[in-house]
Amino acid sequence: MPNPRPTKAKPPVLGGVTGASGINTLRQDVEDYGTRKRRTNATGRYLAGGSTDKLSHRLLRCARHLNWRWYPEPDKRVLYGAKFCQLHLLCPNCAHRRASRQAVRVHEKLLYLAEQHDYWFVTLTVANGPDLAERFEHLVRSFKALRQLSRDHLRGKGRYVELSRAEGLVWAFEFTHSEENGWHPHIHMIAALPKGSGPIRYGVHPLTGEVSQLRQDWHDVTGDSIITHAEPLDMSNPHKSVCELVKYSLKFADLAIPDQIDAYETLRGRKLMECSGSLRGVELSEDDTLLDDLLTGKYFDFLYRWHGEAYTLVSAPLTPSQSLLESLSRVNGGGNGQNHHHADGVGQSEPDARDLREVEGAC
Ligand SMILES: [Zn+2]
Repeated sequence: MPNPRPTKAKPPVLGGVTGASGINTLRQDVEDYGTRKRRTNATGRYLAGGSTDKLSHRLLRCARHLNWRWYPEPDKRVLYGAKFCQLHLLCPNCAHRRASRQAVRVHEKLLYLAEQHDYWFVTLTVANGPDLAERFEHLVRSFKALRQLSRDHLRGKGRYVELSRAEGLVWAFEFTHSEENGWHPHIHMIAALPKGSGPIRYGVHPLTGEVSQLRQDWHDVTGDSIITHAEPLDMSNPHKSVCELVKYSLKFADLAIPDQIDAYETLRGRKLMECSGSLRGVELSEDDTLLDDLLTGKYFDFLYRWHGEAYTLVSAPLTPSQSLLESLSRVNGGGNGQNHHHADGVGQSEPDARDLREVEGAC
């Protein structure tokens, strides 16, 4: 039976395993952590000295070891040990861990309430500008005003706004940047509408010229912006939309390190993901450890350490089974696996060809 009062629904079991989690992807995953760690260290070195020394220290010490635990049945892998700097606006590994953990929570909640809701993926944007703080405040104020209009309408005090149909929202701020256009802040959100609701229309009808309610609402509160988008979330494959929602607030690959640091100074301490109504409770706490939950069953541990420019495997199972040996050989790109017991340098036989842009996908 669907819960008739979703806002009172018990929270789902949260946790789970983030990202690609089998043994076959271990090697690539560790390489991707290395690519991101190099960027973190470059930022740490840039900040070294003077009043930023503490920040630099945190960045340089982030994720210097990665403890993976692999469960052969059913081929799941968790990151159960690592110390993260938690500076997700400066450190791509921390941004990656937050996004992955956040994705699991949002996904679980959407599944839990799926019988009561149709979900829509909605984007609201404001015009570009050179001043990130000013653009961000404009976006925050506008969205707050929109939610207030929605609440007023539900209390019978004001006109109809499209989002007043939503019983729950989860939204996140994202900021893209280019030299030509400056900062482009926008909001991605998932809106939970009662099951069977009509669609959320956006833009202008191509035949009749009718302006959608959402566009009208957004222009009313921003005074200068009309760009909105809405599409139904496909619950047979919600992964894409969930990843789009939780992806990094800042795109590291698009930002020079000084711009990144300016953005950090502007945005730190600000809530960049929030939720309301039936989707309340999905946001990750600021002090989340960013580690996966342990599973049960037989397991093998793999310890990687950061050595200057890459992670190396310093500890692997001593008594592996034949199937583990086979899996390890795949991890190492084709060896027999025997040489990985306490093997330094696993995975270094091929150059790391993936740059930051490629590994920036959140989920
Ligand atoms: Zn970090």
